[in-house]
Amino acid sequence: MDTRGKAYTSPEITVYFDGTRCIHAAECVRGLPSVFDRDKRPWVQASNAPAEQVAGIVRRCPSGALRYVLADQTTETPETPTTLRQFADGRLEVRGDLRIIPAAGGEAIQVARATLCTCGLSRNLPFCDNRHQTRTESGS
Ligand code: SF4
Repeated sequence: MDTRGKAYTSPEITVYFDGTRCIHAAECVRGLPSVFDRDKRPWVQASNAPAEQVAGIVRRCPSGALRYVLADQTTETPETPTTLRQFADGRLEVRGDLRIIPAAGGEAIQVARATLCTCGLSRNLPFCDNRHQTRTESGS
């Protein structure tokens, strides 16, 4: 169970947020603003909606920055078949039962969702950190 990041707990669900993985796709704040609100502290108010609804929005998060564990300890079932979705800007969104082995070595990272860097500019490899946008803006 991947519990990296900060935990936001209600009696029914714990939401984990790893800010280093967030690419600001905003699926969370658009999908359930009563729970995910950047102007509130804490910005995740897990009690403000039924747990299944919160979990459904978390599963939309393309980067895997958001994850959850329900009170009965069940969590997300990885999607099958595994899918890789390529975007014109180079990002690669991956969903499935994934084991990511970092170039630097070490333990494989087990995730169900990730957005991967394909341009090599990310400072959080292998994950996308939106740095490709800098390249596009500067024309390099
Ligand atoms: S959906 Fe995921 S990547 Fe997008 S803003 Fe929310 S936490 Fe960040």
